[in-house]
Amino acid sequence: MKTPSAATGLILNEPLLWEKGKKGRSAFSLPSGDVPRAPLDEAHVGEAPDFPDLSEVDVVRHYTRLSTWNFGVDTGMYPLGSCTMKYNPKINEKAAALPGFAAAHPLLPEDLIQGGLELMSELEGHLAELTGMDAVSLQPAAGAQGELAGMLLIHAYHESRGGAPRAKIIVPDTAHGTNPASVALCGYRPVPVQSSERGILSAETVAAVMDEETAGIMITNPNTLGLFEEDIRAIAELVHDKGGLVYGDGANMNAVMGIVRMGDIGIDILHLNLHKTFSTPHGGGGPGSGPICVKRRLEPFLPVPRIVRQEDRLALSDDFPDSIGRLHAFYGNFGIMVRAYSYILSMGPENLKRASQLAVLNANYIKEKLKDVLHLPYDRPCMHECVFSDKRQMEMKISTLDMAKRLMDYGFHPPTIYFPLVVNGAMMIEPTETESVENLDQFIDAVRAIVREAETEPELLRKAPAKPKMRRLDETAAFSRKGRKDRKERQKKFNRITRLR
Ligand SMILES: *Cc1c(COP(=O)(O)O)cnc(C)c1O
Repeated sequence: MKTPSAATGLILNEPLLWEKGKKGRSAFSLPSGDVPRAPLDEAHVGEAPDFPDLSEVDVVRHYTRLSTWNFGVDTGMYPLGSCTMKYNPKINEKAAALPGFAAAHPLLPEDLIQGGLELMSELEGHLAELTGMDAVSLQPAAGAQGELAGMLLIHAYHESRGGAPRAKIIVPDTAHGTNPASVALCGYRPVPVQSSERGILSAETVAAVMDEETAGIMITNPNTLGLFEEDIRAIAELVHDKGGLVYGDGANMNAVMGIVRMGDIGIDILHLNLHKTFSTPHGGGGPGSGPICVKRRLEPFLPVPRIVRQEDRLALSDDFPDSIGRLHAFYGNFGIMVRAYSYILSMGPENLKRASQLAVLNANYIKEKLKDVLHLPYDRPCMHECVFSDKRQMEMKISTLDMAKRLMDYGFHPPTIYFPLVVNGAMMIEPTETESVENLDQFIDAVRAIVREAETEPELLRKAPAKPKMRRLDETAAFSRKGRKDRKERQKKFNRITRLR
């Protein structure tokens, strides 16, 4: 790619200089002040940061060019399993950007944020209705933090009831990786249990390990194989009979909105991922929101502050003596709540249900259209995602990684790979409801073409991707001693550039 032109020695398609800028250039102009200059206390004036001096056009070109190197759902299909990378309607962005919401200062007195509180309170109500639960806290900043909150609630609940201590939480092998981590972070011991040959958890397996030292079970439903835990009611009953609680990981809610109410099938605590199911662009570690929804008996332990109605106004109250306390500054990530609220209202109950139905239909469509060329470890109807493996291609020494990289050359974001761990060489595809049948067909054609290439031109796959800005990264080097050293050097340089001296 970086071959210079023979005639000129210049590298084609590359900006001639990476380091741009020249002392004295500027990309901004501030309006002249309409108040007299205040004297500056020299003691408080530092040196300016070491940023390059750039003109406006330099800055615009730099960021616009960078944006074309990235892949997003606004550029193409992003079937990253377990992440629900669906298209998020721009109307929800517009709502979140309304100045009354976006510019509200978190320290405004309650009288001036009645609208914001009303929105949050109504959103809590909608989420409770959708999940069949009684009370909601919008505070957790991500799914994983919702899980931790849930574990803390389980702990607080058992403490409040006295009795012998319970130290264990059952976690099936098809749970999301954050589940055992949250269990351990809270000080519980995760007890792993295996799913059956049907890819789901059986009541017998749970019965064998559930005892009075176990605080509860944490179950992802639909699970990470994209399968619905059909025995959930029987499992919940077993756990309840022994005094335990049932935590539901509801990050996969996109499969069951308006179809299954988790509160009706035995779940006591559930988190949702607003940034997956309810319209917030995500990825790259941006802000998230993982509300927890609980049954009435767990409500006293929810994080504070909580939104309470006082006659004709709403207020934030810390007056919940049994609460597990605060999990986030202020009230959580408000902008994401606005998007979820706007999404729920603009869709309405019928369309939320239809979105889930289409998400499930799309995943099953892909599953059926690809199962003759890719190994399908669990051949049964799936929910919002389907999981293949590289078993057949490995006979030709072509791996899931090779196929995923090659998909980039066809203009698709790769699916989630090597997860869930219960499937060797897993390829987890979640198309979501926002892809049309034409897009799905293009994706299916691309995968089928890649499978053919694996037989006829395997080098194309081993060297893929050939088209995107970055070629295949050297994964071995990335984990080597030198890779670590290089990363440290880069970090140092970054710290130097960004430090305000
Ligand atoms: C994404 C996901 C999580 C974690 O959510 P974060 O917001 O990334 O912390 C947990 N469980 C499941 C099933 C998920 O898909």
